Amino acid sequence: MHYLDANASEPLRPEARSALLQALDATGNPSSVHRSGRTARRWLEDARESLAGRFGGRPGDLIFTSGGTEADALALHALGAGRRLIVSAVEHDAIRSVVGTGRDVEVLRVDETGVADLDQLETLLRDGPPALVCLMLANNETGTIQPIADAAALCRHRGALLHVDAVQAAGRMNVDIAALGAHALALSSHKLGGPTGAGALLLAADAPQIAALIVGGGQERGRRGGTPPVGVIAGFAAAACAAQECTGLAALRDAAEHAAVACGAIVCGAGAERLPNTTSLALPGVRADAQVMALDIAGIAVSAGAACSSGKVAASHVLTAMGLGALAGQAIRVSLPWNATLADIDAFIAAYQRMADRLRSTLVPHAA
Ligand code: PLP
Repeated sequence: MHYLDANASEPLRPEARSALLQALDATGNPSSVHRSGRTARRWLEDARESLAGRFGGRPGDLIFTSGGTEADALALHALGAGRRLIVSAVEHDAIRSVVGTGRDVEVLRVDETGVADLDQLETLLRDGPPALVCLMLANNETGTIQPIADAAALCRHRGALLHVDAVQAAGRMNVDIAALGAHALALSSHKLGGPTGAGALLLAADAPQIAALIVGGGQERGRRGGTPPVGVIAGFAAAACAAQECTGLAALRDAAEHAAVACGAIVCGAGAERLPNTTSLALPGVRADAQVMALDIAGIAVSAGAACSSGKVAASHVLTAMGLGALAGQAIRVSLPWNATLADIDAFIAAYQRMADRLRSTLVPHAA
């Protein structure tokens, strides 16, 4: 299998596996006072220190969670309390799920490349009561990178808080909470080559104090109850240290894109600054799920830009927000993992060409 679905989950990095296994062997609960507990605590605090430093924050401002979804939920709960919400139209469902829940939410539009409209943000911030703005750093479907530092300057000028979902960006580009000017960052272990089951919310030094979403035994300084999975967290920290900016993947990604375009594909988000490992390829007239299945049979793992539930293909909300119309149900996401090779891309190109020839030949031509 040629695995090109890294934005769903990255392959485990060897450094993460080794740290995970070592820490798993350390018996004990980090809250216990005896020596075993203290050993577990050391693993936990070393991981906290290393992750906070890696993303430009302070260890005391990093709260471990079960993953990116929970980090986003904690930000919405704790930083959004008493504030209206402004969320971009291309956020992951972990954030977008607040739309339609009865909370005061405004949706920030994006342009045809997926970049948020900062003029609209300025207007919304000028006219309303204090807000929590949620704007992701890099999009999971297209890889489009948002102008976070500019958005942060607008937010800070108007007394708004800015939460940045950095789940797809972390480990693939430089991410520094202080340089970005954000109040909070969501991170996820399995998206940067660590094990599944851990994530974090990193707060800026000047972020407000936050209340827990999950209350329990007072762990994480009362900000997230529950015994932390020390082994998984050690693997998370090791993966984050090992993950470098993935600029080296851009040449492979571009080769895949050029070949797909030669087959009639359209690159969604082309023209924007994008993650080097990600491309969203729409094949006009061909359903995304048919493409994913054909490529799967050929040994290539990619995903649909469109969600599929109970046999019904839903158009991607990201591509719809970018104004792509019917193409929003006809795009696949190709996302290269940290260990992608030229052989993976050669195999993808050969399979894509066969798939495009076969599926496009079944299309009924439009009447002139
Ligand atoms: N945010 C973004 C941008 C994502 O792509 C994802 C997962 O795909 C999440 C949040 C959720 O992360 P997790 O799978 O760790 O809950």
